[in-house]
Amino acid sequence: MPSSALPMPASYPARVQPAVLCNFIDGCFRPARGGATTVAQNPATGQTIATVPDSTAHDVNEAVAAAARAFPEWSTRPAEERAALLMRLADLVERDLDAFALAESENTGKPLSLARSLDVPRAIANLRHFSGAVLEDQTQVFDQDLPKGTMRSTVIRKPLGVAACISPWNLPLYLFTWKIAPALAAGCTVVGKPSEVTPLTAWMLSQLMVDAGFPAGVCNVVHGRGPLAGAALVAHPDVSCITFTGGTITGESIARAAAGSFKRTALELGGSNAAIVCADAADDAHLPTTVDGLVRAMFTNQGQVCHCASRILIERSCWDRLVPALVERTRALRIGDPLDTATDFGSLISAPHLLRVAGMVDAAVHGGARVLCGGQRVSPDSLPDRVRHGAFYAPTLLQDVTADAEANQEEIFGPVATLIPFSADADALRIANGTKYGLSATVWTRDDERATRLSRGLTAGTVWINGWMMRDLRVPIGGFRCSGIGREGGQDALHFFAEPMVVVQSTGG
Ligand code: NAD
Repeated sequence: MPSSALPMPASYPARVQPAVLCNFIDGCFRPARGGATTVAQNPATGQTIATVPDSTAHDVNEAVAAAARAFPEWSTRPAEERAALLMRLADLVERDLDAFALAESENTGKPLSLARSLDVPRAIANLRHFSGAVLEDQTQVFDQDLPKGTMRSTVIRKPLGVAACISPWNLPLYLFTWKIAPALAAGCTVVGKPSEVTPLTAWMLSQLMVDAGFPAGVCNVVHGRGPLAGAALVAHPDVSCITFTGGTITGESIARAAAGSFKRTALELGGSNAAIVCADAADDAHLPTTVDGLVRAMFTNQGQVCHCASRILIERSCWDRLVPALVERTRALRIGDPLDTATDFGSLISAPHLLRVAGMVDAAVHGGARVLCGGQRVSPDSLPDRVRHGAFYAPTLLQDVTADAEANQEEIFGPVATLIPFSADADALRIANGTKYGLSATVWTRDDERATRLSRGLTAGTVWINGWMMRDLRVPIGGFRCSGIGREGGQDALHFFAEPMVVVQSTGG
């Protein structure tokens, strides 16, 4: 496998030694009270890159208390001041973009080029977006004439209090900032809990919060395992709302834990996303762009994006043209050292996750599926020395997977897609909608009417036509059914963190 120069910004501390991460509570950096730690690894090399506080309820209690103390002052500050601090934080992340990208790549195994072009720029955009959005969020006023005089109803949005922001490992900084930015902009104070698997960039962000000038206690970051620190945060009586992104089973336990205290909850969960490919998208003029788009939708971030397409529904009449082209393009992905600028495809998040993905493929094969490409761990001999022990699984396309197989019904969250033929649009919609999920879908056709019909027939929070993951941060994003509750993005996110209160004033009469 070719290896070009490895860019290594000097500022990333974990290059020098495993970084020692701390919680960020009340403006101070502290280890977990009990002194316990876990480790974070680079899944591409197997090396330990950080020790991480293994926080418990003690640490969570301190963080929530600090956030509760900071809330009265923060929530009554002019929105312009809150927005300015978020802008400053965005500028600092942008200044350190290379260091953040390297940390994200090392902690996740994703290509450095992806962290640099997607994860970190999007985190910066999140901070800037909500900084602007809160200033555009107008107070609603409704005037009504009465028989005598008038009535004015003003809708005020009062920040809820302490927000728990719990994020997963696949897009660590991107999704952490997607939660804390609207919470802080709306006037909530925050206790954030990043994934214990990928804590590095949230820790780096907490250091920049000091430099940006956030008051102590406004944004706290507690590191630790989900069932310990995460569960304590969710159960804490002084937490007013929970925004969670992660697995559906975890979401279920959070919904249960929050129900008794009526905490407002937003859950962004898993998916089993379909792509519907119509024959015209595979004609001579469109085949290359369709294939490129599908390969991106299936394999970006090694298939570990909640919106990745894992079921590709292909109109029967173009099967023989499209399938070989998909296989060829998939085989051409350059698997290698994530730090190599030529690498398209890096390591999965961990060896246990690789085993889970491999298990789903093996079960499908056992049930009669045919492997068109991939279907196994990447041979260490084909990898550069530095990463030969990493969690690399080859991008995989399967055919003849039974409808009820796990690979067609459950979230794979890895570089695996099943190819399924269809003849009529009604069949495509039935198959696409035939799981318990409803996160997103894609439709590939140049026929606008057909695209509209198909997209309206899908049960999915987002449908992309002839593309994937194009995002306007103003639109509501979320899932149907087991893919979640609530929406993130734009005003929906800001309004999640505030309770509407109506003040009615009468005049005259
Ligand atoms: P996960 O559910 O294991 O963990 C997510 C977060 O929840 C982590 O911070 C974890 O520590 C915490 N957690 C775990 N158990 C908890 C508990 N009992 N109480 C409170 N917190 C707890 O998910 P993951 O494996 O980190 O991430 C992968 C999943 O995330 C996939 O299912 C993927 O689809 C989903 N995801 C969804 C979206 C979306 O927008 N819908 C986006 C990205 C990822």
